[in-house]
Amino acid sequence: MPLITEEAIVLARYPFREKSAVVVFLCQERGVIRAVVRQSRGKGGGAALEPLARVKVTLFCSPRRELAIVNEVVLEHSVLDLAARPQAWVAALVAAELVLELCPPGTSQETFFRLLQKTVVWLEAGVAPHLAVPYVMAWSLKLAGVLPQPTECAVCGQSLLDLGAWWVQGLGFCCRQHGTGGVSLRPHSYRFLVEALRKPLDALAFSPGPELLCVLQKLVEHFLEKPLRSLHVFRQLMTQEGSSC
Ligand SMILES: [Zn+2]
Repeated sequence: MPLITEEAIVLARYPFREKSAVVVFLCQERGVIRAVVRQSRGKGGGAALEPLARVKVTLFCSPRRELAIVNEVVLEHSVLDLAARPQAWVAALVAAELVLELCPPGTSQETFFRLLQKTVVWLEAGVAPHLAVPYVMAWSLKLAGVLPQPTECAVCGQSLLDLGAWWVQGLGFCCRQHGTGGVSLRPHSYRFLVEALRKPLDALAFSPGPELLCVLQKLVEHFLEKPLRSLHVFRQLMTQEGSSC
């Protein structure tokens, strides 16, 4: 079996048989790889196998096996500090779950890798979780090819940049005339969305209202045909700030 070494971010970890676990890695070059780690052998583990840890992992991979085998894992960046801040921690988990759900295994996902890596860095640097979550959702939808064009009305094509936008499920972003019955995005929410797709998170000038998160949640869950679990936890944590749909 060929041995490969990759820079990777841990996306998730599940118990697997007795004294083993399946760890899902987002590798910088090879994308999502699921691998078995035999915890009893003492070949790395602990903080290096916790979600969102950045690691250098050496794997036995075989095209005939669904699961790779972890040979060695070295922790490069621990996220223990982030784990001590519940809202920031869950915001980062939303990013990890989006990658897990949207990236098919075995395909290079370097843009998703950079998005996840940067999201963790921004949250560690103190960027507000209520900005990070819609940012990472908008980008994940864009990278997955399922974010409708936000700058032009989906029906008549006129520019929305100076008019604001209405979200109509099944249509996309619309002008006032064609957005009847849809969700009206407040000007600062709409500007946040448009800027988010052009700039890094720590350079954004606008703060979105809760309706943007609702729109992005509907888009993601409609596409996945199931709830995004970490997002529901995030909403519960943020409820005191009035962010429920
Ligand atoms: Zn229109």
